[in-house]
Amino acid sequence: MCRLYVRIDTANEFIASPSLKVDHVHLKVSNLHEAVEFYQSILGFTVLGIDSGRDLAYLGLAESISDKSSALLVLDQVNRGKNVYSTNMKRREAGLYHFAILLPERKFLSYFLRHIQENLDPRFYEGMADHAVSESIYLHDPDYNGIEVYRDRKPSEWKWLGENKVHMVTEPLDVDNLLSQYRDEIWIGFPVHTSIGHVHLHVSNLAKKKLYHQLLGLYHTASYPGAYFFAADNYHHHVATNTWIGTNILPSSADDPNKPGLEHYAIRITGDIEEFNRLKRHLTTNDIAIDEDIENLNEQNDTSFYIYDSDGVKIQILLSK
Ligand SMILES: [Zn+2]
Repeated sequence: MCRLYVRIDTANEFIASPSLKVDHVHLKVSNLHEAVEFYQSILGFTVLGIDSGRDLAYLGLAESISDKSSALLVLDQVNRGKNVYSTNMKRREAGLYHFAILLPERKFLSYFLRHIQENLDPRFYEGMADHAVSESIYLHDPDYNGIEVYRDRKPSEWKWLGENKVHMVTEPLDVDNLLSQYRDEIWIGFPVHTSIGHVHLHVSNLAKKKLYHQLLGLYHTASYPGAYFFAADNYHHHVATNTWIGTNILPSSADDPNKPGLEHYAIRITGDIEEFNRLKRHLTTNDIAIDEDIENLNEQNDTSFYIYDSDGVKIQILLSK
């Protein structure tokens, strides 16, 4: 491990495709029916399809109805009667801190805030923050999977500090301003162009997570105490990692069918098979095991494979057309 780390820590030689984005998140939940209801009525997803044979639900935007391949969120029922119903924070396990749903305009964050003020059971509420690059609202689902809903300020308003470092903070959200600016509409679910903007993970060791930098080729865009942020193409972050629940934590239970939590998240490269193959070769050259023996959950011809990070967090890499 040490040899691997030293060898790749020198590198800017590999840079991710500028088209790289988070595609979707696949969560294991203890009660599929309850989770679907929560993500529809509280968040505003549309059910694109249900695979009752495999206890899977595909959720996305209303405009994509019945196109499971465009799902932003896949919900996966854990084995009934065996689930361990607790947070990975309580379990002290690597995995999801939150996944973050990016709204295309600030007004939608205002409608969403008003909607949850009226409809969200307070036990699911976590907080709000202004991160300079973005404004965010945090909550969790019935299985304590963390969720952020946010909007970005314009990239021209972000401050870059040199060496690809972006200025991010955690300050109070100006709720009065947000609510008072947009009074004309109500929340009717996620609008067109909503996407999964980033994922934020609990990890055991920040240094090892430089793998996101050297192996996936993301820029290391910011450091907080106990947290690193990574992005492609001048975004503020597509992936963040933190050690805020400690460094002595269990590996991810991604492949344990009995535990709720993150099964995997997916990163997509759009359009360019050469970029996709270049990434695959780079991972293989650096001794990362490529798992291509997968069921294609999206039932389309996406080219994809899985890798695991050093904490067993599972990542699907896919090429979309
Ligand atoms: Zn976040």
